Amino acid sequence: REQQLRQNQKLEALGTLAGGVAHDFNNILTSILGNADIAGLDLPPGSSVHAQLDEIRAASERARQLVRQILTFTRHAEARCETLCLTPLIEECLRFLRASVRSSITIRHHPAPGAPQIEADATQIHQVIMNLCTNAVHAMGDTTGSLEVTEDILTVTQEIIAQHPQLAPGEFVRIAIRDTGCGMTPEVVQRMFEPFFTTKAPGQGTGLGLSVVHGIMQNHRGAITVYSKPGQGTLFHLYFPLKTRTSSSQPPVFASGAPRGR
Ligand code: ADP
Repeated sequence: REQQLRQNQKLEALGTLAGGVAHDFNNILTSILGNADIAGLDLPPGSSVHAQLDEIRAASERARQLVRQILTFTRHAEARCETLCLTPLIEECLRFLRASVRSSITIRHHPAPGAPQIEADATQIHQVIMNLCTNAVHAMGDTTGSLEVTEDILTVTQEIIAQHPQLAPGEFVRIAIRDTGCGMTPEVVQRMFEPFFTTKAPGQGTGLGLSVVHGIMQNHRGAITVYSKPGQGTLFHLYFPLKTRTSSSQPPVFASGAPRGR
């Protein structure tokens, strides 16, 4: 309870701060990015300044991403829901990740049969998938490893409802995000959703990724669970109420109690 209170206070402070400055900050970044582009146009092709402009662009993009995360906490980023299929959205995130990770990390996607649809804000769900998958890749560090994203449809069980009373009985789409990275201790698992909680080196992590994920899942009346063991890896489950199935040829997969595996 005390932890919940601390989390709410931090969220409130962050929301107030963000509401005031984030939009202005975004405009400043747009100007920096635009001017970096224009400055590059007049330079001779072999100029060393190109590399510096690329640095400016990359840093500005990172700052934009941070602003986006912060805006999710405030009224400025209310969910704009539409009916969407998760499969192409996940595919897009994984395409982006594959292009940026080392070849010693394999990334696989197992889509759900029947192309299930949910009612959700595409930008926010994109953020959820990207935050979780980016953490998974970070957790694998310099070692080899694998990231698997699996979708399926299931009827939520009493056991899951007992853990997550906000879930209404019925059919759900579940996304499993499993990595073979460093895993988390129970202490880290307990604190991971707190805003600004990070175990990463200064400058490497903001500690906002998972608290944003948590907030977005609540907005979507969904749920998130985690199974993690140090040295073995981590499995996140995301549950979204099912809206429709594009094709009804496949019967639903029924969950048999606790999720299997780790
Ligand atoms: P950040 O990534 O900026 O540190 P997050 O809120 O995304 O912030 O994550 C908080 C912490 O949770 C991370 O610093 C890390 O210790 C832990 N964590 C999150 N995802 C994973 C994962 N897949 N494997 C191991 N640790 C994780």
